[in-house]
Amino acid sequence: MNTKADGEISIVEVAPRDGLQNEPRIVPTDVKIAWINALSRSGLKRIEVTSFVRSDRIPQLADAETVLARIDRTPGVAYGALVPNLQGLERALIHRPDAIALFTAASETFNLRNIGVGIEESFARFVPVIRGAQEAGLPIRGYLSTVIGCPYEGVVDPGKVAELAERFMLIGVDEISLGDTIGVGTPAQVHRLLDHVVQRVPVTRIAVHFHDTYGQALANVLASLERGVHIIDSSVNGLGGCPFAPGASGNVATEEVVYLLEGLGCPTGVNLPALLAAGAHVDRILGRPPVSRLARVPRESIWLHPGEIWNTPT
Ligand code: MG
Repeated sequence: MNTKADGEISIVEVAPRDGLQNEPRIVPTDVKIAWINALSRSGLKRIEVTSFVRSDRIPQLADAETVLARIDRTPGVAYGALVPNLQGLERALIHRPDAIALFTAASETFNLRNIGVGIEESFARFVPVIRGAQEAGLPIRGYLSTVIGCPYEGVVDPGKVAELAERFMLIGVDEISLGDTIGVGTPAQVHRLLDHVVQRVPVTRIAVHFHDTYGQALANVLASLERGVHIIDSSVNGLGGCPFAPGASGNVATEEVVYLLEGLGCPTGVNLPALLAAGAHVDRILGRPPVSRLARVPRESIWLHPGEIWNTPT
C-alpha cells in the first residue's frame, strides 16, 4: 500500500453522535454510556460522543451533558463533542470534552435547510466558539458537509469546497472533515476534490467522511488513503443517515474500515470482535439490523486477516 501515512491512520468513531442523531429511535442514556465505554475498550482512539444542540432539534442527543459527564475516560482515548454555537460550547466545557467540532456545509441551500443559516453566518458564529475552545486548550475539528453533492443544489464545485476548507483553517480550525453527506461521490470525484483541497490545506489536516448510499464509501476511503489522507471518519455498524437526503444510508462502517486498513498493513489497534460486540444491544434498541456487510458475518466465523493483530473472538 502506497499511502504516505502507513501505520498512522486515525479512525474517528462518529456513531454515538452522527449515527444516533440520524436514527429515529432514542437510545436510553445508560445504554449509550455503556456502549461508548465498550467502544473505548475496543481500541478506538477518537470517539465523537455527542452534540450540544437544542434538545427540541435533536431529541436523540438531549442527554449530551449526562453522557459526557458519565462516560469512563479511557486513557489515550479522545472524547469529542459537536457544538453548534457559543451556548453549546459553554454547555460542553463544563464536562471537559477532549475536542470540539463545528459544522457547516459547502452548499448554501443545505446549510439553510439544515441549520437555518447560510454559510457566511455560520462562519461568523464560529469565531467566538473557536476563541472559547482555544482558550480551553481544545483541538477543533470543522465539518464541511455536502462536499461532492447536495440534495438541493446538485454537484458541488470542488474549488468552492477548497476555499471553505482553507477558510476553516485560517480561522483556527485544526482539522477539516470533508463530508459526502448524501453518499453520491465516487473515487474519481474524491481524487478531483482532493486535487483542489490539498492545494490550500495540508493533507495532514484533512479528514474524510463518507456515506455508503451508492456503495462507494469504502472505495472512497481507499482513494483518500492513496492521496495521503490519514484521518477517516466512520460509524460502527454503519449507523446513521441524513434526514435531509432521502435514501441516504449510513456512514461508512468502522468495522469495514478497520478490516480494510488491517488488510493494507496499517495497524489500527482495534479489536474487531470487541468493536462488533459493543453495538449489539444498541442495534436491538434501534430495531434495525446492522447496515454493514461485515457486521452480518456470524461472529463465530469472522475471518481474522493473516498477519492480524486482533485477538481471537471470545
Ligand atoms: Mg455522517
